[in-house]
Amino acid sequence: ERRRGEGLALRGIVLAFGGVRAIDGLDIDVHPGEVHGLIGPNGSGKTTTLNVISGYYRPQQGTLALGGAPLPAGAPTLRAAHGIARTFQTPRVVGEESVLDNVMLGGTVEGRAGFAEALLALPRQRREERAMRERALAALRVVGLESLAEARADRLQHSELRFVEIARALALRPAFLLLDEPAAGLSTEEIRRLGALIRAIARQGTAVLLVEHHADLIFDICDRVTVLNLGRVLAAGTPAEIRSHKEVVSAYLGG
Ligand code: ADP
Repeated sequence: ERRRGEGLALRGIVLAFGGVRAIDGLDIDVHPGEVHGLIGPNGSGKTTTLNVISGYYRPQQGTLALGGAPLPAGAPTLRAAHGIARTFQTPRVVGEESVLDNVMLGGTVEGRAGFAEALLALPRQRREERAMRERALAALRVVGLESLAEARADRLQHSELRFVEIARALALRPAFLLLDEPAAGLSTEEIRRLGALIRAIARQGTAVLLVEHHADLIFDICDRVTVLNLGRVLAAGTPAEIRSHKEVVSAYLGG
């Protein structure tokens, strides 16, 4: 059994919009090597939770930690620098750039310096860029798209862009990866490949949080699942436990 707090730990998170608590005292642990599913009906607080983890929203109460160290409140770029990566429901790519450049964009987490500093930093930057390129190529290899590295991103199919998004997140070598509806718009065969990829990513020690409407994928590949309802945890457990949980079945799975 892994120690608590080793991966991503949310404790007592509260975030209200006006008087409405979108999330209301949320505790979630995502351990290294674990695929953790986050599900719940519309309005249950999934998107708000993602935005808190990514640093888009600052919770009014509660703490976040990664690897036992508190995560400072901060912008998404700062989160990336702390080892947190994410994908988006709609893939975000620069169409006229190559697939490789799009993946490399994921690694640019440092702010821009002034011109003089930039000039002095050039040799270091060249080294860093080469390292970044290697990481991006390695990430494309992991998702099976290395052969498309030099293709323009707008030539790719929707399903391929989903995998490019995952590669971009992996290029950060994140300790924690957030996947927002990665199966949307994919075929059954592509979802099977996606599931195998997510398991492989977790096997490398990454903590993975998977927000997904596709229930089969959730129950097939997750180690544990957290079910939200009205901004709170309705149930948390293994897929088998969740599937047979009375309240979950009646409130959400429609059984
Ligand atoms: P989900 O992603 O599970 O559908 P959300 O996190 O989007 O749920 O929403 C949770 C609750 O917070 C809902 O009641 C929603 O109306 C409310 N909410 C979400 N975002 C905002 C916002 N920007 N302003 C006001 N209320 C919001």
